[in-house]
Amino acid sequence: MDRHERDRRALEAARLTRQLTGRGVVGVALVWVDNSGVSRTKAVPVERFERAATWGVGASPVFDAFTPDDTIVAGRYAGGPVGDLRLLPDLDRVTVLTALPGWAWAPVDRYTQDGDLHPQDSRGLLRRAVTQLAEDDLTAKAAFEIEWVIGRDEDDFVPGARGPAYGFTRFTEQSGYLADVLSALRDQDVRVEQIHPEYAAGQFEVSVAAEDPLGAADTSVLVRETIRAVSMRHGLRASFSPMVVAGGVGNGGHVHLSLWREGINLHSGGDGPCGITDTAESFAAGVLERLPALLAVGAPSAASYLRLVPGAWAAPFQAVGYENREAAVRLITGSLGDESCSANLEVKVLDQSANPYQCLASLLFAGMWGVRAGLRLPELVDVDPATLSEEERLRRGIRRLPASLTEATDAFEADGVLTHAFGSELAATIVDVRRAEIARFADATDEDIAAALRWAF
Ligand code: GLU
Ligand code: MG
Repeated sequence: MDRHERDRRALEAARLTRQLTGRGVVGVALVWVDNSGVSRTKAVPVERFERAATWGVGASPVFDAFTPDDTIVAGRYAGGPVGDLRLLPDLDRVTVLTALPGWAWAPVDRYTQDGDLHPQDSRGLLRRAVTQLAEDDLTAKAAFEIEWVIGRDEDDFVPGARGPAYGFTRFTEQSGYLADVLSALRDQDVRVEQIHPEYAAGQFEVSVAAEDPLGAADTSVLVRETIRAVSMRHGLRASFSPMVVAGGVGNGGHVHLSLWREGINLHSGGDGPCGITDTAESFAAGVLERLPALLAVGAPSAASYLRLVPGAWAAPFQAVGYENREAAVRLITGSLGDESCSANLEVKVLDQSANPYQCLASLLFAGMWGVRAGLRLPELVDVDPATLSEEERLRRGIRRLPASLTEATDAFEADGVLTHAFGSELAATIVDVRRAEIARFADATDEDIAAALRWAF
């Protein structure tokens, strides 16, 4: 970060400060997501925003070594008491929070005191992935589906709505709440496409429009924190945890991704399965191939593996299918005639205990590796893989994805493509934090895990 850039930021921040003050903002929450998928924050009064935007706000690098239940891990590259970073708000994404009157939100990039990007910064990682994509003249669009459960009680979970799955009764019960969620998101310039009651008790879902990867990850953070704030105003708690009550159906964090070149969607108009072009097919094949390792980033908590079971549309098999909701990678074409706009791929195994920046970065790195290797997709699976015999799955090359955080972490550690792309420090810290979580829950029952992490995400 040079002098010129700091001057530019100071000017822009002064303009923003006037705007924010005019809209009744008294403070700005500077937010980043840690390696365990938890949003952490430091806030400044609006009068200090210009200074914060120019020189940053101090924060310890120890936050890289937090588990979701706030244990600090003594990691190889993080976890000690020494050192300091600077949180610099992204001035293009400062948003006034309708559901938290008086507050604005800004996602931050974390810099060293020397003005270099911190090697473990996850927004920086995603920016790197996007830049690499651009080297092949490619861009990506992405969107996270947000599923959440509302509850009334902190200890014994009591769902905040009683009506049936997808039921209009459940919708009616909470229609005022849902209207407040919609209007808060609209006021914050989030483009909502759909909102509905989901399957699990007290569960809802919102989907938002696809945007550039960094924008999509920021939006997923903003949407969740907005839903959380609106919930509290309605006397409810919101949980985005992969499994709120053990044995139930979980909260997914499915990612929709599409690859574009010169304004053309590469998921349609090609000769591959479902009209996918060679490039997008190789990209999808790269993602599919690296999924076991990718789960340590995209389904990174002990609770993730309570969700990743067959028959819950969480898609725990390493398979690709056309509109198959039990295939980890689902090819989507959209309606006949609309493919060039709508076609994309959905990765269903992922959940919202993931750091969304790292999650998208890992998908892009895996996909680009597939493109550069010229991979092809295996045969599409058009049934629930769980209904096939073991021999049939073996014949078709359909493997069960990691069934535990240990298996996923081992796969990540052994994955040269992802660990190289993440950089040795960040990759090692992710492994250190996962191993601490594994040890923490070594003797825990499923119910203990679900309860311990219920309100962490
Ligand atoms: N709740 C399911 C999950 O855990 C997904 C249901 C759906 O396909 O929307 O991923
Ligand atoms: Mg859903």
